[in-house]
Amino acid sequence: MENKVVKEIAFERIKRLLELAEEKARENTEYSRMLEKRYVKLAREISAHYRVKIPKELKQKICKKCNNFLIPGINCSVRKVSGNPGYLVCKCECGAEKKIFLRAKL
Ligand SMILES: [Zn+2]
Repeated sequence: MENKVVKEIAFERIKRLLELAEEKARENTEYSRMLEKRYVKLAREISAHYRVKIPKELKQKICKKCNNFLIPGINCSVRKVSGNPGYLVCKCECGAEKKIFLRAKL
């Protein structure tokens, strides 16, 4: 198969897996949370294997350390660090922190 087509399929799979991961994270049961991490892990493996980038807005929601799909109030806490425009710090339940830079309003 053509390389481009393979990458497209890989990309679609990554998006779908992360969609499912979000669903499972929101269900918030022990079993669904296990699936959630598995989906994120798979998506990251596909991304690495086919060298397809995970879209930035989705990547921001993934914990690098434990493959959590971060949802504030469920598995991460968010605080704002002041500044102009400042940034958000999402702290995953595993302790890893993620910075999300805010865009300045024009
Ligand atoms: Zn984590």
